[in-house]
Amino acid sequence: MPETQDQQKFVYDFTEGNKDLKDLLGGKGANLAEMTNLGLPVPPGFTITTEACKVYLDSGAEPPALRDEVSAHLDALEAKMGKKLGQADDPLLVSVRSGAKFSMPGMMDTVLNIGLSDQSVAGLAAQAGDDRFAWDSYRRLIQMFGKTVLGVDGDLFEEAIEQAKHAKGVTVDVDLDAADLKKLVGEFKDIVAKETGRGFPQEPREQMDLAVRAVFDSWNGDRAKLYRRQERIPHDLGTAVNICSMVFGNLGPDSGTGVAFTRDPASGHQGVYGDYLQNAQGEDVVAGIRNTVPLADLEQIDQRSYDQLMQIMETLETHYKDLCDIEFTIERGKLWMLQTRVGKRTAGAAFRIATQLVDQGLIDEAEALRRVNGAQLAQLMFPRFDHEVASGDTVQKIGRGIAASPGAAVGKAVFDSYTAVKWSRSGEKVILIRRETNPDDLDGMIAAEGILTSRGGKTSHAAVVARGMGKTCVCGAEELEVDTKRRRMTVPGRDGKDGIVIEEGDVVSIDGSSGKVYLGEVPVVPSPVVEYFEGRMHAGADEADELVGAVHRIMAYADRVRRLRVRANADNAEDAARARRFGAQGIGLCRTEHMFLGERREKVERLILAHTEEERDTALGELLPLQKNDFVELFEAMDGLPVTVRLLDPPLHEFLPDITELSVRVALAESRKDHNENDLRLLQAVHRLHEQNPMLGLRGVRLGLVIPGLFAMQVRAIAEAAAERLGAKGDPRAEIMIPLVGTVQELEIVREEAERVIAEVEQARGVDLKLTLGTMIELPRAALTAAQIAESADFFSFGTNDLTQTVWGFSRDDVEASFFTAYLEKGIFGVSPFETIDKDGVGSLVRAAAQAGRATRPDLKLGVCGEHGGDPESVHFFHEVGLDYVSCSPFRIPVARLEAGRAAANGR
Ligand code: PEP
Ligand code: MG
Repeated sequence: MPETQDQQKFVYDFTEGNKDLKDLLGGKGANLAEMTNLGLPVPPGFTITTEACKVYLDSGAEPPALRDEVSAHLDALEAKMGKKLGQADDPLLVSVRSGAKFSMPGMMDTVLNIGLSDQSVAGLAAQAGDDRFAWDSYRRLIQMFGKTVLGVDGDLFEEAIEQAKHAKGVTVDVDLDAADLKKLVGEFKDIVAKETGRGFPQEPREQMDLAVRAVFDSWNGDRAKLYRRQERIPHDLGTAVNICSMVFGNLGPDSGTGVAFTRDPASGHQGVYGDYLQNAQGEDVVAGIRNTVPLADLEQIDQRSYDQLMQIMETLETHYKDLCDIEFTIERGKLWMLQTRVGKRTAGAAFRIATQLVDQGLIDEAEALRRVNGAQLAQLMFPRFDHEVASGDTVQKIGRGIAASPGAAVGKAVFDSYTAVKWSRSGEKVILIRRETNPDDLDGMIAAEGILTSRGGKTSHAAVVARGMGKTCVCGAEELEVDTKRRRMTVPGRDGKDGIVIEEGDVVSIDGSSGKVYLGEVPVVPSPVVEYFEGRMHAGADEADELVGAVHRIMAYADRVRRLRVRANADNAEDAARARRFGAQGIGLCRTEHMFLGERREKVERLILAHTEEERDTALGELLPLQKNDFVELFEAMDGLPVTVRLLDPPLHEFLPDITELSVRVALAESRKDHNENDLRLLQAVHRLHEQNPMLGLRGVRLGLVIPGLFAMQVRAIAEAAAERLGAKGDPRAEIMIPLVGTVQELEIVREEAERVIAEVEQARGVDLKLTLGTMIELPRAALTAAQIAESADFFSFGTNDLTQTVWGFSRDDVEASFFTAYLEKGIFGVSPFETIDKDGVGSLVRAAAQAGRATRPDLKLGVCGEHGGDPESVHFFHEVGLDYVSCSPFRIPVARLEAGRAAANGR
């Protein structure tokens, strides 16, 4: 029977939860419960679940059962603490804090000191023996409550504090005494009354209930929504609310508050990392009113608490088997743990910590793989700025925006697309700077080394398009004023310093991994991790080597456990060789169209223009040896490993001149009465082959079927190259792949012809080439009829680029620059389906086609060679649906290897 709202439990005491209940209790609540159960000193309290929040957000009211449940938990808390919430002579005070499943720093609300009122403030003063402390606590409550719960403009409170300080002739809050603060409380209450039309609530339970509701509401605040969109956190999770008895770090020199990490989140090294602030509350640390001291100094200040903290940190690390970050408070010499969680870390530290924990025997290799990910590895592979120069005096840091697409780019500032293209054509490196980009900027973005905008977030046009291109991008650098009309950018002056003007042509450097922007050239250094993959660096002893050593070990674990093989998309020997160094186990896609460009274009032109069989055969005859040599080089680079060569795919017009340019040329010649027979024939051919939707037109297998001899020439080139490699004692393993097949008949015809050609070559050379013949599955019809297609195919390779385009019905060449930004912003998809496989749509076709193909032919080899083959999330999907390999660009191979390993480790 489904649980009804009334039966549902909405409140958990800290003693009832545990760290695995994050969905229900939020990260903070789950970890407070875990620490409580570990016997650590956590102030008692309870958590209202995310389910209660969801009911509230959906219906506009708290679940009816919530009030009584909270009352029961509050009674228990009061009994434990021996005092009642807001009790006049000795008040129990509580904090009300938000805590979602994923941490959303500073995005949602917190109210401290709930329970203070005109009456209980005196009780608190008496108990603490400190009038000033009590009035300061009350002042903080009204201020926080007024702002976050009652929606009063926070500046009004700040102004009142400023005035109080001014009247007294002091500059810092701590110089206000009890009488000043008491007066301020009166003023704060007046502000609340004036702004809200009612007095500050004196009833403690009402304070608490209103604060809980404010936390629920803050889930849908603008800041929180924006943050979730940027971080891809689902909007329907809701937040939990933690109600925790207050402890005070501001009760004198034997009190204080601090934050700590169980190891260095930047390097992973174990040690004492953190900050401490004596006689202060958590918010003072954040506000930066006074300087913190290093955590190590606590040893001198309060040896006992320090020793206990060190012990607790060790307990937490051993228990969570990971780096933890913590917040603590010391109240009059007694240590309290206020929060812990598995701490964020840099990409490099993630790899180091994972191997360190294996060495300490805390986790096994499979767990080490779960602790890192492909995005982190990719980040480690980007070139970066020379740290010393970037932090030195020779370059000037002029701003910081959102790190939208990683990498390090240097170039001359240009402020429009046209100049970007023009300058880059003349060999200049440029950085395209715009307020924000739109589809008209695309050419400039392609031409630029990197893109810098002063507006927009991680899903802005600039960010989305740059990531898609793998181009460095910093966006939303708000302090930079971009004036595209005057072709300049201004950094406003601050603190009496002059502003800086950056004109077109000035060199700027942008760091897409940190969001930093520099004036001047920061030298770029290659990543040590790439140097390692390239075989130019080995694990050793210094800092970089330590990272390389960790990467080396994690990659070895991944390779040991992964089931998916990883191949490369490469169409020349150089890329193939690099791919092999990066760990490729073959080529999954050699696109042959690139081999038809450059000086060979003219031969292709002749093939297209051929009127007679003889003309055509001559053109094909000229292309054959060139193609053969391409393949010989490729097979040599990948000797002993499979190489899938795809026969020609793109529409023929791509090999012909641009229709407009050619029309103009012919028209001009005509007007001069200067006929050029060849141009005329070309123009006719261009018109003949012109298509409105070339991507859905005469391409792929259709070409092979209508241009006689084209595919036969390519198959012959492959067969002869393989024979030549065999003759040279090589081990060529070619696989021939037919693109854009929609029906088995197409494949049968091509197959018959190919087998005939192969047999001829084998006979002539006296060899057995063992060539296999397969097809891409990149049209919905092919996927739907995979069972039939498998009868004629030795392998399937899913072309998920075209499959995504045809399943969704949107053009892969256009959409990213047109409506995708709007779609991402509206949350229609969290990430472009061209980047991460759309599991429900495109993915279900892949799954079904894989099953149907294997049902026909159990030994059918299955791979994927669309862009998704190198995307972390998609790799997990391909593992799950049982493909044999993924194929991706050489640079993404390590990421694919790692993710294939992680996918396998997840299944263990
Ligand atoms: C594909 O469509 O996924 C594919 C790999 O082929 P191309 O990108 O060359 O069309
Ligand atoms: Mg394709």
